[in-house]
Amino acid sequence: MLRVNTHALIPRQRLRWIPKPARFAHEYCFFLHDHCVALLKEYEEAEANLVGIEFKNKKEARAFSDAAKGDAIGVLRALGYHEEARRVAINAITMAMVSDCLHHVFEALRCLERRKFVVALNLLRKPLLDSLVFLSWVLGDEDGFYEAFTKQSPQALSGSNVGNRRPAILRAAHAKTSLGAAVEVAEIEAILFDADNVEGLYWLMQRAVHLITVQRVSVRTEAENFNFIFKSYADDDVYLGVYETLPTVLLYLTHVIAELFDRMRPMDEGSMTALRTRSTAGLHLVYDTDQVPEFQRQLASFAQHFPCGSCGAEPRFSRHNTARALLTESFRCHRCRRVNHFPFAWLF
Ligand SMILES: [Zn+2]
Repeated sequence: MLRVNTHALIPRQRLRWIPKPARFAHEYCFFLHDHCVALLKEYEEAEANLVGIEFKNKKEARAFSDAAKGDAIGVLRALGYHEEARRVAINAITMAMVSDCLHHVFEALRCLERRKFVVALNLLRKPLLDSLVFLSWVLGDEDGFYEAFTKQSPQALSGSNVGNRRPAILRAAHAKTSLGAAVEVAEIEAILFDADNVEGLYWLMQRAVHLITVQRVSVRTEAENFNFIFKSYADDDVYLGVYETLPTVLLYLTHVIAELFDRMRPMDEGSMTALRTRSTAGLHLVYDTDQVPEFQRQLASFAQHFPCGSCGAEPRFSRHNTARALLTESFRCHRCRRVNHFPFAWLF
């Protein structure tokens, strides 16, 4: 993992309990979370989830407005507006599920800042094991999801039923994103759903939520022990395990959410490209891949156009400034320490 502390997005005080090697990864997770929250807010404020319906006559419009406070979707269906009913339902599910999912991710990240990692893992379970799969289903196979939701729920939406379809659901959703090889479906499966993968999150989340786990050998509680009960809050191993994988999963989730919102109402093309590029570049930085020197070179090639507003020095793209440019579109001048704006998203 990239060992750099930017403190650009999260104040130093809040990062002090996160082990140093995981601090940038933590900031990156918050960066993804904040982007999703900004999207949700923007769409809520613009009422982008509302569906415009042109009724054939006043009688239908009156019937709808009389019943709208109750079962609006049922009335639309009864009047024969099936496509509109479907859009209303899908938009409502998307907005509400994304909101619930982000609340959990936010609280989990805040718990990690306070060393409450068992609570954090509990909080991550629903958004990562449940919401992520349902949101992927809506994105990858809206017809199949809507059919199951309207005609066979709750049975068709149960854990075991969805679990059987999950690989196909994730593959279909991944194909609708621009992630490509940056995040592979097999990685998401291995991190979130493979009980035998001791480097994944499933193992940690199962142990966090149950005091005793016996069914699967790989997750089994040791003799004369309870899961995590005697674990010292000062141990770093769980943290490092979480941050080796959580950024990848949150990047996938961010792209699924962005594509769902884009479907609800097309996003401005520039904003969508910026989100895709910045978030994907961020993962390379988190895992310090061989792409990073290339980013640094690319950023440096624009340096002359963005001199420091105070002393005129050209920015230098150290790892600190590369990470800072990505997270907050800024750089710190190496000469006078002033923080300047730098439009990272628009250069890639
Ligand atoms: Zn300066």
